[in-house]
Amino acid sequence: MPVLVMKFGGTSVANLDRIKRAAKRVGVEVAKGYDVIVIVSAMSGKTNELVGWVNETSPLYDAREYDAIVSSGENVTAGLMALTLQEMDVPARSWQGWQVPVMTTSAHSAARIEEIPSDNINAKFAEGMRVAVVAGFQGVSPEGRITTLGRGGSDTTAVAFAAAFNAERCDIYTDVDGVYTTDPRITDKARKLDKIAFEEMLELASLGAKVLQTRSVELAMRYKVKLRVLSSFEEQSDTAGTMVCAEEEIMESNVVSGIAYSRDEAKMTLVSVADRPGIAAAIFGPLSDAGVNVDMIIQNIAEDGRTDMTFSCPTDQVKRAEKAMQDAKTSGEINFHDLIADTNVAKISAVGIGMRSQSGVAAKMFKTLSDEGINIKVIATSEIKISVLVDRKYMELAVQALHDAFELEKPA
Ligand code: ADP
Ligand code: ASP
Ligand code: MG
Repeated sequence: MPVLVMKFGGTSVANLDRIKRAAKRVGVEVAKGYDVIVIVSAMSGKTNELVGWVNETSPLYDAREYDAIVSSGENVTAGLMALTLQEMDVPARSWQGWQVPVMTTSAHSAARIEEIPSDNINAKFAEGMRVAVVAGFQGVSPEGRITTLGRGGSDTTAVAFAAAFNAERCDIYTDVDGVYTTDPRITDKARKLDKIAFEEMLELASLGAKVLQTRSVELAMRYKVKLRVLSSFEEQSDTAGTMVCAEEEIMESNVVSGIAYSRDEAKMTLVSVADRPGIAAAIFGPLSDAGVNVDMIIQNIAEDGRTDMTFSCPTDQVKRAEKAMQDAKTSGEINFHDLIADTNVAKISAVGIGMRSQSGVAAKMFKTLSDEGINIKVIATSEIKISVLVDRKYMELAVQALHDAFELEKPA
């Protein structure tokens, strides 16, 4: 029988009623003849609560224990979903990551899926089971320890299962009815897209649009998974939501197709480091070894052989970054006068494959922000995106102003 993957995010399984509603949707697909693999997230808020407990107990926690703890929210919803389906007389059972097993790397809290053997679940389908409910977000390392795939990782679990089981489609059920030109919570002018290219979705996701985890889009692109984002609250239909697809399948598109933002960015400045060959390696080597994901970097003009080095990283890695820099200073690898962490910033990005062939997007972006009196602190560009770091208090204003300036409320 054809396989369908259906993923339900946190708000879609937030309580027993919602789990029932989600289970009914699964029932509809089972009735159509699909064997279904359901991937569930933890109930909304649960993972945050677990992360909070970890941080309160141990600020520089052992990542293996972090994973053991934060993966547990999904175990509950997987079991509840299986029970709900059984109550509806749909043959179903739950699977935790290690039971499948979802084999991952040992990079705790940011593990990558390496392999998903399909034999165990397929054997159960062959025996008449119709739904395999799998706990999203989690896997098992070669050392036999529980791993997690990074925040939002259930999306990646879903796409990886769709690839491993050759599923007809991977449906991501969430609390919005598709992918929009920007987060619909920031402006009601945001417009739902019927289709979005993998490349654009990849950039939007990596720049903060958390509707899909970045890695899930990467996998869908690589394995040609038909990926759809749709609402678990609205009527079910075959054409609902947004299809994430190859660029060639999109006829018309705006130069800028979306605006993303991330409030989880911090700006760190090393004040007065020696400007000598090898200094960048001496700074960013230890940061990378400490697991800090550095995003933007600027090295300021040197004076008297010393310079300031500014970089951005996720806010929850500031402590790690500070420790790595202090350790490098203590060991004599680098020398600096001060390390300033500014956590009151946000990153705003404009994304669009049209930027490859059209110039002027950066100029328009900078002018729009300047007209609003918003100061730009750091700039980064690539082929199809421009990102700026601004004061966090201007985040919403910046998104709305750019959405207006690029006329994203209008279809191409
Ligand atoms: P889930 O719990 O279902 O995984 P998430 O909260 O991770 O849901 O992702 C859905 C949220 O993503 C939406 O509620 C919306 O606020 C946010 N979002 C950000 N950017 C976009 C966008 N461009 N289109 C749609 N939703 C977006
Ligand atoms: N529950 C995890 C999180 O909140 C994974 C997910 O929901 O995708 O990050
Ligand atoms: Mg999510």
